[in-house]
Amino acid sequence: MKILVINSGSSSLKFELIDMTNEKTLAKGICERVGIANPIFTYKNLVKGTKIDKQEAPMENHSIAIDLVLKTLQDKEHGVITNVDEIDAIGHRVVHGGEYYDDSVVVDDEVIKNLEDVSALAPLHNPANIMGIKVMKELLPDKKNVVVFDTAFHQSMLPEAYMYAFPYEDYTELKVRKYGFHGTSHKYVSELVREVLGKEDSKIIVCHLGNGASISAVKNGKVVDTSMGLTPLAGVMMGTRTGDADPAAALYVMEKRGLSLKEIDTRMNKKSGILGIFGESSDFRDLEAAMEAGNERAKLAYDMFCYRVKIYIGAYAAAMDGVDAIAFTGGIGENGSDPRETICEGLGYLGLKFDAEKNKERISGTVELSKPDSKVKVYKVETNEELVIARDTYRLTK
Ligand code: AMP
Repeated sequence: MKILVINSGSSSLKFELIDMTNEKTLAKGICERVGIANPIFTYKNLVKGTKIDKQEAPMENHSIAIDLVLKTLQDKEHGVITNVDEIDAIGHRVVHGGEYYDDSVVVDDEVIKNLEDVSALAPLHNPANIMGIKVMKELLPDKKNVVVFDTAFHQSMLPEAYMYAFPYEDYTELKVRKYGFHGTSHKYVSELVREVLGKEDSKIIVCHLGNGASISAVKNGKVVDTSMGLTPLAGVMMGTRTGDADPAAALYVMEKRGLSLKEIDTRMNKKSGILGIFGESSDFRDLEAAMEAGNERAKLAYDMFCYRVKIYIGAYAAAMDGVDAIAFTGGIGENGSDPRETICEGLGYLGLKFDAEKNKERISGTVELSKPDSKVKVYKVETNEELVIARDTYRLTK
């Protein structure tokens, strides 16, 4: 059984074809600048090791882009299948499922209607995700499509965790509440750590630290709390997003600088976080290089980032009455040994003993970074959101 995973953004489209008999990726790639000038196509055949590297290709819209993907997958030189019939089903990443979905679901007309209904909560993402589904249904009408939500895994939160203390009608009428995001990653990583721990009753804190970053508290396989909110702006500080800040600070900056709603939204989502404090880049590697060269604003951004992750870990240990394991994932969590050390240094009070030497070794896969006698285990885990999407698609369509 082969599953095609699609992550359709407004001007990009990521894809991956996975063979579910061994969960190996056959081919993957990305269409960038879809619908704008100079679109580029990148593709890797992981069976033969061949690739198409950032080639210009006409992609005026998502339909043409997906058509190019399907043709390349069957292409003599680069292909991994001989016919699209070999694709059994398609799994789509969808950012927001609102309160409708606590699990992935096979697409039908009602699902599309519900996704459109919650689009107001994710105006940059859901419409582009829906477009990917519609195009796929057009191009391969006989195939089943499954949607896998970023929000679904977090739907187990209790009202005390997900409610905001706005007037109650803002929840009932406008659906204003915490939803949480990166759910597929939190699910994959927490399930893997639960297996490694070898016990059903487990209290796991997952730190997904990438350009976007979120933390979750997962008790016995269910999310108790997570750091992102109504939108992916809340929580820890991120590459370009503020993370938590007094909401009144946004109103104050708006008023003092004469900004429109759209401008303050852009300022908080695209110009803040590491970029906003450091001033030169949102990329963590640039930040670390500048810090080593003595840049004080880079050091401030680094300290703020690590401090905020650390206080979330403390809060989530409180939320679960303890913690068995902390897992680091995402681009920074998987590769950045210094932030892992800085964050864990302050957690000795939980009974955590960090293995700083092991942390510096660059070993791939899941690696334990705590000492054998540590009360709280620490792991580095390589997340795999595409595999979660493929597994759910397989489960719902096999
Ligand atoms: P993601 O959004 O998960 O792809 O993560 C992107 C972030 O991971 C960027 O800020 C990168 O700078 C960061 N990153 C990637 N490799 C490393 C590394 N070796 N050390 C620190 N940060 C890294």
